[in-house]
Amino acid sequence: MRPPLDLRVGDVVELRKPHPCGGYTWRVLRVGADIGAECLSCGRYVMLPRSRFEARLKRFLERGPAHTEENVTL
Ligand SMILES: [Zn+2]
Repeated sequence: MRPPLDLRVGDVVELRKPHPCGGYTWRVLRVGADIGAECLSCGRYVMLPRSRFEARLKRFLERGPAHTEENVTL
């Protein structure tokens, strides 16, 4: 099994499939069992199961701050 992807709050990512608005770039706002992200083209907020989000992720455009002891939650 692959280790879980190091998704961080604040990451800006490009996905493989466009949002209905035509945008490909998203900012990660919530990281957990579900990933919450805001479409940077239309501002819509969506939640996806982590596995689906990881499958759709194409690349990181910006990285959020690395996890520290204080903000890691399992
Ligand atoms: Zn959109």
